[in-house]
Formats: sequence, C-alpha cells, structure tokens
Amino acid sequence: MIIDIGNKKIKINKDVLTEIYKRRQLNIEDCEVGGMLIGSIIKYSYDIVIEDLTTPMEGDFCSRTRYIRSENHNKLLEKKWIDSQYTKMYFGEWHTHHQDNPYYSFQDLTNWKKLMKKSETSTDLLVFLIAGISSFKIWIGDRTKITIRQIYEGDYSGFKMD
Ligand SMILES: [Zn+2]
Repeated sequence: MIIDIGNKKIKINKDVLTEIYKRRQLNIEDCEVGGMLIGSIIKYSYDIVIEDLTTPMEGDFCSRTRYIRSENHNKLLEKKWIDSQYTKMYFGEWHTHHQDNPYYSFQDLTNWKKLMKKSETSTDLLVFLIAGISSFKIWIGDRTKITIRQIYEGDYSGFKMD
C-alpha cells in the first residue's frame, strides 16, 4: 500500500502487512505482539519504503494488553542494517490490539514519544502501526516537532492473503 502524506509517499510492502495480519489477536487468550518496522529512504524523492520488520522473539514480554520487545530486536536490526549496506534502518513500531478498531493507549503514546526522542536512526519520521482484529491504523511521528498524526485507517481487504 502507498500512503501520500503530502510532501512524500510512504510505501508499506505487502509482505510486511501480511506478517502483521497473520499475528492479529483473534482469540481471547492471544497475547499482544509486535516489533520494529524497518525501511529505507528512496534517493532523490525521499519517499519511504517500509520493507521489513521484526516479529516476536524469545525474550519478549507479552500479555493480553501489553507487549515489550527485548534487546534481541535491536541485534537483528543491526544485522539488517549491515547486511543491507547501511540502507535498511529503524522506522518505527507495530503491535496488535485485541480491539476491532484499534485506538492507541496512553502507554502507546508515551512509548512513541520516547522512541521519537531517543531512537538512533537517520529519519525524521517514524511510522507507528496498530493492528486490530478487523482494521488497522497508521500514524506518523515527526521527530523534529514531536507531533503524531494519523495517516491511515482501513480494513485488511487490500492485501489479504487467503
Ligand atoms: Zn497499544
């Protein structure tokens, strides 16, 4: 999918969305899960492509309403950064919610703002995705202004793999 945010476009590859889609919290006992969004900046246009992600790993904490990723995600990101000749970088976060239409929690907002201030990555924009049961939403965080705005809300019909 491609989202036009005015001065640039953000493309999220189908593979990435499919990986997230597969991990939705469909059952009452399912854990909240998540990971990093990984992408690169296109030369000249400065458009963004989210082309990779990290998915739940050993060491993560998860409960029905909370997910905390472990340091192992940072190690994997570092490897992807090197293997891609320093083009694939940290671009934000995704996680699931056990809601039909997801809303960010106060905790989510606090985490996102912290990540916007502290992440060591070469982009001014971070992408945050919450995957609900029947729809998902995407926000972008502007790291220069520390503002967050929603850029997408919709169901999964555009890329569903079944
Ligand atoms: Zn959340």
